[in-house]
Amino acid sequence: MEAYDIAIVGGGAAGCFAAAMVMERWPGVRLAILERAGSPLQKVRISGGGRCNLTHACYDARELVGFYPRGGKELLGPFTRFGPGQVEDWFDSQGVRVKTEGDGRVFPLTDRSATVVEALLGASVGRGAALRLHCGVQGMEQGESGWIIDTSTGKLETRKVLVATGGSARMWELLGGLGHRLVEPVPSLFTFLVRDTRLEGLAGLSIPRVVLRIPDARLESAGPLLITHQGLSGPGVLWLSAWGARWLAQSGYSCLLVMDASGMGSEQATRKGLRGTWAGHERKELGNLPCFGIPKRLWRTLLGPEWVDRTPGSIGSKGEQAIVDALRRVELAVVGKSTHKEEFVTAGGVALGEVDFRTMESKRCPGLYLAGEVLDIDGLTGGFNFQAAWTTAYLAALGMCLQKEH
Ligand SMILES: Cc1cc2nc3c(=O)[nH]c(=O)nc-3n(C[C@H](O)[C@H](O)[C@H](O)COP(=O)(O)OP(=O)(O)OC[C@H]3O[C@@H](n4cnc5c(N)ncnc54)[C@H](O)[C@@H]3O)c2cc1C
Repeated sequence: MEAYDIAIVGGGAAGCFAAAMVMERWPGVRLAILERAGSPLQKVRISGGGRCNLTHACYDARELVGFYPRGGKELLGPFTRFGPGQVEDWFDSQGVRVKTEGDGRVFPLTDRSATVVEALLGASVGRGAALRLHCGVQGMEQGESGWIIDTSTGKLETRKVLVATGGSARMWELLGGLGHRLVEPVPSLFTFLVRDTRLEGLAGLSIPRVVLRIPDARLESAGPLLITHQGLSGPGVLWLSAWGARWLAQSGYSCLLVMDASGMGSEQATRKGLRGTWAGHERKELGNLPCFGIPKRLWRTLLGPEWVDRTPGSIGSKGEQAIVDALRRVELAVVGKSTHKEEFVTAGGVALGEVDFRTMESKRCPGLYLAGEVLDIDGLTGGFNFQAAWTTAYLAALGMCLQKEH
């Protein structure tokens, strides 16, 4: 039987990063990456629309954890040890120059995810890690001096094992069988399916800022809104899908969504905004005076037949109030979810109490480590999910190296 010091199950973001970290620190280590697919790092390749948004330029750990609906509390310590700054430094040391976009997302300067893939493989396989492809792990059991791993290509022996299999249901089942508590997986980071005649023919249009609420879930977000062929997308929608992931799954992805299309947050501010736009145009038709960057067609629909042909000078304070109310309370029925193509993740996985966050070692099974999306950790869109994968992989690598004598 082949024997290793470390076997890493899953050649994805966390698995390959951990391998690179170990290879840097433990010369001569016998390490194998066991990957079920025919090539490693498949998600990294397609990530960020092929550009790979590898982290987020948020260097304060306290602020950073606010972007994680699940796992924020546990990641505070880890992020102070290995946060976005260290990730950027590491990639830079591998020749990957990065750039930060206006919204804080960090990409390789090349705008090609292949740059990131090459760096990860160079620092792991290039330094002697064995990469076994088409090698799906089917079982694991504790042996006398480590673990016996049962793979689709045969059994192997290893002293330590890192499980970094992302959102693989089969692996969760296996980890559950080893005594780990699991949190039921549900999707996060998705867009909303909305059937509403008012949105028909508006696909592709956007509003610079709206406030969105799901009153029943007591959730509220704000940001730009994009109207899609099937419903709504944009940062505010993704935020709600992440923070409300579990609630929305329970509701069957069917709920009332209330939009403040003015995006102003308060009635007074909406009124002020309307008056500002209308000033000097008292005789112009309201339908031709769209406010708050709302596309004209949608603006006219939201005003409704009662107001669209009237003028600001003719509606009086009651009319103004009616328009304020109409804009601030646009009720939409969410009837399902759709995939956000740039990024989607799974909320749920191995419960965080099952892991020692100093080393990422399982509290149930000594010698077994966990990193990445296999854990009940997920972040908002913007590079936060890779950051959690790099950080937990780094800690796991260090944990496994520290214990190399044992
Ligand atoms: C389309 C898309 C775009 C994304 N873009 C971004 C982005 O730009 N920025 C960002 O921060 N996040 C992004 N994400 C999220 C990010 O990809 C994940 O959070 C991240 O890949 C998780 O890393 P991981 O190593 O835990 O899992 P993965 O990268 O999914 O790796 C898990 C690996 O384990 C393997 N595996 C599973 N089961 C077994 C088994 N039994 N035996 C052997 N191998 C197995 C899988 O084949 C896979 O290679 C995106 C996600 C998607 C779907």
